[in-house]
Amino acid sequence: MSPTRRRRPGKTGAVTRRVAVMGAAGRMGRTVCAAVVDDPDCELVAAVDPHHAGLDVRTVAGVDSDVVVAADIRSLEEAGVEVAVDFTEASAARANLRWCAGAGVHAVVGTTGLGDGDFDELRSLFTSSNCVVAPNFAIGAVLMMRLAELAAPWFETVEVIELHHDAKVDAPSGTALATAQRIAAASGEWADDPTTDTVLEGARGGTGPAGIPIHAVRLRGLVAHQEVLFGTMGQTLSIRHDTTDRTSFMPGVLLAVKAVADRPGVTVGLDALLDL
Ligand code: NAP
Repeated sequence: MSPTRRRRPGKTGAVTRRVAVMGAAGRMGRTVCAAVVDDPDCELVAAVDPHHAGLDVRTVAGVDSDVVVAADIRSLEEAGVEVAVDFTEASAARANLRWCAGAGVHAVVGTTGLGDGDFDELRSLFTSSNCVVAPNFAIGAVLMMRLAELAAPWFETVEVIELHHDAKVDAPSGTALATAQRIAAASGEWADDPTTDTVLEGARGGTGPAGIPIHAVRLRGLVAHQEVLFGTMGQTLSIRHDTTDRTSFMPGVLLAVKAVADRPGVTVGLDALLDL
């Protein structure tokens, strides 16, 4: 049965989405399971996480659900899943998304580490169902990127500093790269880096689009944070966003879960769903 034909009115009169969570035992996956179970217009019908297969979601995520965690994405077909939410890691997400596209299941992807080549492939794959990919589901972070884009033409120097917990495996963050790409697209007028003597390799960070330096900090105790520092004659502008808890991502994830069926093809970024 196609994803759209399964849709029916939920407890609030809106449509109920049958949702699966990929990476259900992970830090983000557990929070997504809780948010889906708490949302009256969503139903958690499947969860996948290979090393936790056979346990129920109540045990792995501490939420009120008897759904048993599966080892493999193919269980989504039997569960009649309409929307699969992926918070795993890039190579797992690539395989999961290929499967979703082939099975006509909509996908909402938070996993980072996917690049332009992946997005091109997703555009060719998602023809009978849709996909929303967002490097950052926190609405405040989306606004930070939009504000940085607006500020860009008024400054000549800019640096992006992202700060994350010490278990994050990829660097820089997808948000930092996306921010630099949008700043570069908004202005090409950036001053040259004056550094001629790099005493310590990497001291000026990674070189992003348009030569914008991107610095990645990994620190125990942090969650996800980013600062965009702009400078011009006699003034600086700092735009900072702090995620202090993973629940900050959930309004954006649920928005995407509810919108994905109505957004043909592949949508990259939450901006389109927020009308920014
Ligand atoms: P995590 O705690 O490591 O969770 C990932 C989970 O996915 C782990 O339980 C992992 O299992 C599982 N997994 C691996 N391969 C799988 C597969 N093929 N199918 C199903 N599950 C699989 O990581 P996290 O902190 O939750 O972050 C997950 C991803 O979300 C990262 O890419 C992170 O950067 C991203 N993220 C995005 C946002 C956003 O707003 N877009 C926000 C926060 C994080 P094992 O550990 O047993 O391998």
